[in-house]
Order: sequence, then structure tokens, then C-alpha cells
Amino acid sequence: MDSFFDTLHDKEFIFAPKCYMTCNGGCCHNIYAKYFKFNTSSEVILPVIEAEYISLVKAGNNNLSNHSKVIYELKNKKKIVVYLIKCSLNGICNPHSLRPLICKLYPYYPQVDFDGNFLGVKPCALFDIFYKHKKNNFCTITHTAEEEFIKTFDKNTKILQQEPIMIFIFKALEYIEEALKKYTYKYYGKEVYLDEMNEDEKYNFFAMQEINSMTLKAYKNEDFINKMQNLYDVLEQKYQDKFCKYFID
Ligand code: SF4
Ligand code: SF4
Repeated sequence: MDSFFDTLHDKEFIFAPKCYMTCNGGCCHNIYAKYFKFNTSSEVILPVIEAEYISLVKAGNNNLSNHSKVIYELKNKKKIVVYLIKCSLNGICNPHSLRPLICKLYPYYPQVDFDGNFLGVKPCALFDIFYKHKKNNFCTITHTAEEEFIKTFDKNTKILQQEPIMIFIFKALEYIEEALKKYTYKYYGKEVYLDEMNEDEKYNFFAMQEINSMTLKAYKNEDFINKMQNLYDVLEQKYQDKFCKYFID
């Protein structure tokens, strides 16, 4: 069966030649490793839904075997399988065109509405939402994300914006970001930013975030659960099997 993800193998979404020379390849290793208690390896973790994983392996990506598999369940008991792939290749993955979508999109994803209309860009790595000033982010692309860049990103990612499963993923990322911001705000009683923390504060921040990444407490609330369910319901009604085929009972 043809997969939407097969059509992405020859696509690129961000054109920033040799950007890795400006940041020591920041997105290809765990730059926060020293702050974590458990996740101390330099490997970066790449979330990939099962259909994308199958498509990449079938096309010849042999670098995806170090992974864990998690199943996320919605309120209506529909489940989606996500592979958390550990990558330690430091930017030298080959073939480069078969790297996961999150690598091709980094540092952004297109924010869309339920109809797939482009609303702007959002950071696709969770901790990037905790930078107050984009010039302090290790990814130099974010320093220059101005009107022209965003226009080009919109044009390049049209193929993603129109695809029901990608609308689900992009909206889910938006809800995850909102929930994590709320959870962090509640924990500290104020907004906190990585670029305003000293080293001790960063150790505390990442200890708290690491525990949340294991317990998923930030997402265990009615507001998040209902938003995710509503997202599924809207897309199911609109796109039916073209969307629902990515979920299992
Ligand atoms: S962190 Fe940003 S600038 Fe650095 S390699 Fe990744 S995309 Fe390029
Ligand atoms: S797959 Fe390639 S681009 Fe993605 S994290 Fe690994 S080395 Fe970097």
C-alpha cells in the first residue's frame, strides 16, 4: 500500500546549508545531557509515528533499530503507535534524505488549523519553548526566522499542512506545548525561561522536566485529554479512513 510518508523521502523543508557549522550540530545530539539525571547519553530522541517508521525502513534507512515503542491512547480508546528512536550519528546519517521528518523540519513545525491552513511557525523541540529571546537558542536558524523565511517554510510545507495525519500531529504538538507551559507555570508559580536561569536553576528545571517526561503528569488532565479527543473527532468526521487508518483499536 502506498504511504503518504513515502512521498516525503525526496522532500526538504528547510534550506540552511551547513548550518551545523554555526552551532556544533546542536540538534543532532542531546545538548542538555549534563542537566539530566537519567537521560545522560548524547543520543537524541526522535519521535516517529509507526507509518513513517515503516516507510523509512522500507526505503533503506538502517539506522532506526535503537528505539522504544510507545502506544498513546485517546479517550475513545483509539491508539497511535510512536517509535522513540535514539540517534547517535551526530549529523552523519546516511542516506540523509531518509532522516525522520522531525529532523527535516527542525527547528519548526507549521502551526495549522483543523482545515490545514497555515497559521505560523512553532518550535518543534519541546525545550525550545522555554527560550525568552530567540537569539539565545542554540539553533541559529531561529535567530533569523523573519517574514521571508516563514513565507518559504509555508510554501515548502504545504504538502504536510494538507495531510490529515499531519494536521493531527501538528495540533497535538501545539496542545502538548500548551499543557507543558501550564504545568511548568503551576510548578514555579511564574513563567520561567532557560535563558534567564543560572546553572543551578537549570539543573532543577531539567530534573522537574525529566520526571514529567516519565510520568506524563502535565498531560493527565481533562483539558488536554478532551482537546486531543476533539481533535481526533473533527479529523475523523472530515477525513474518515484517510485519517483513521493510522490508529488501532
Ligand atoms: S541546531 Fe539549527 S543551526 Fe544547528 S544544525 Fe540544527 S538546524 Fe542547523
Ligand atoms: S537522523 Fe540525522 S539529522 Fe536526525 S538526529 Fe540523527 S544524525 Fe541528526
